[in-house]
Amino acid sequence: MPATAERCPCLIGGKWMDVDAARTVDVWNPSTGETIAQTPMCTGADVDRAVQAALKAFPSWRETPIVDRARMMFKFHSLLLANADDIARIVSREHGKTFNESKASVARGIEMVEYACSLPALIYGDVMHNIAPGVDSETIRYPLGICAGITPFNFPAMVPLWMYPIAITCGNCFILKPSPRVPLSSIRIAELLVESGVPEGVFSMVHGDKECVDAILKHPDIRAVSFVGSTPIAKYIYETGAAHGKRVQAAGGAKNHIIVMPDAEITPAVSGLLSSAFGCSGERCMAGSLAVAVGDRADEVVDRLVDSAKKIVVGRTDMQNDVTMGPVISRQHAESVRGHIDTAEKEGARIAVDGRGVAPSNAPNGFYVGPTVVDHVSPEMRIGREEVFGPVLSVARVKTLEDAIDLGNKCPFGNGAVIFTQSGRAAREFKHRFNAGMIGINVGVPAPMAWFPFTGWNQSFFGDLHIQGKEGMQFYTQQRMIMTRWFEPEHVDAHDPVWRPGH
Ligand code: NAD
Repeated sequence: MPATAERCPCLIGGKWMDVDAARTVDVWNPSTGETIAQTPMCTGADVDRAVQAALKAFPSWRETPIVDRARMMFKFHSLLLANADDIARIVSREHGKTFNESKASVARGIEMVEYACSLPALIYGDVMHNIAPGVDSETIRYPLGICAGITPFNFPAMVPLWMYPIAITCGNCFILKPSPRVPLSSIRIAELLVESGVPEGVFSMVHGDKECVDAILKHPDIRAVSFVGSTPIAKYIYETGAAHGKRVQAAGGAKNHIIVMPDAEITPAVSGLLSSAFGCSGERCMAGSLAVAVGDRADEVVDRLVDSAKKIVVGRTDMQNDVTMGPVISRQHAESVRGHIDTAEKEGARIAVDGRGVAPSNAPNGFYVGPTVVDHVSPEMRIGREEVFGPVLSVARVKTLEDAIDLGNKCPFGNGAVIFTQSGRAAREFKHRFNAGMIGINVGVPAPMAWFPFTGWNQSFFGDLHIQGKEGMQFYTQQRMIMTRWFEPEHVDAHDPVWRPGH
């Protein structure tokens, strides 16, 4: 480990601090395999310190007019725009995305801040005059109190920004626990939030693993938990958080199907498949990891995929060069992805493009798997069922759209699904009947923009209100209904200038 590897600070009560953690986890540059930082594993006591700071800050933050809270977000937005390239470089260094992918992910995060700036126009309640004779009724939204967010490694800048800009603008205090594998982007962005004027204790950041997460889930003063990560942990977070009386939204893993109908425009379909499967090295919950070729054009689709996949340039993304695909997050994860390909081969699939041996010559210790295309995959095979979360595109061949929809029904996940077709009727059938919450029609990655919710279904989401959009605002607020009646005074002084009967 180079002597310069920094130990990541926590932000508690408005102060950056080095917590006295007994355990740390290394942060790597996946392009080279070097250790670039160390993440301290916080304890329950650290979480409690952040909660106490939030409890102190909440009463006055709750009463701060929402327009002032939104103004702070406008400042944050300007700082994010001015520093977007620097943040993207940090994302590339700690995560391994290409610079362009990192920039795009930062831009999507900034859109969430834009959405948060618009909350004053969305958060107001409803009023009904004369809901009964002389009775009016209204609803008002209030912040919940202290909310927490637990985020995955794959979008170090964007996913935390799905959460706290909305939560804080709604008047809550927020504690972020980023993935210990990629804490550096979150730290840089939090520095900008502090520069924007966020009051002490309104936003805190702790680091850690299960011990820290359990302390969040069980803390009696935390009201709501947002989680994004793998399905088994999402389920655990939902069940444990709910058992401790918390509101929980927990987004999990995925296996996204991309249906290619025989009438599809083949060039955009293949290009959509490639970017969906191999963009961000396949480490996306919306990655199209299973192409379903319908009818008699499967050979043509596979041939085109194979040609294009072979042209992808895999290499270091920390040097801003011409690479089009970077490494995966860790050595262990690269081994797991290769293990999926090995098993697929043993189970009878055909490896049409094999990325198992790919290793750029200038990065012998980086964590690489090249683009891989696995043909003749069936739903019984492990690769046809499980999330691989790497640059591996499986291809299943079916006869009809009905078969493709049936395949979707067998899938336990339900994040995204896409159809490439020129038939409105096929698209309509697919849109209404496919077993997934986010649908693309001739769109490779239907990841919703900030204004729309991230509507995963089945094992891809646990909870009721999804992340982003109006549901995000609803998640971080509670409504109060107020019913009002004013009685006619029994004795009215006809000369009282304030109350003059009949007027
Ligand atoms: P992960 O589940 O391993 O980790 C996510 C978070 O949970 C991290 O902060 C981690 O520290 C914490 N964690 C890990 N193990 C824990 C445990 N036993 N108890 C408590 N907390 C624990 O996920 P990851 O590997 O960081 O991210 C990849 C996964 O995230 C993929 O499955 C991907 O599909 C999913 N993801 C989903 C979405 C979505 O919107 N549905 C978006 C991005 C990523």
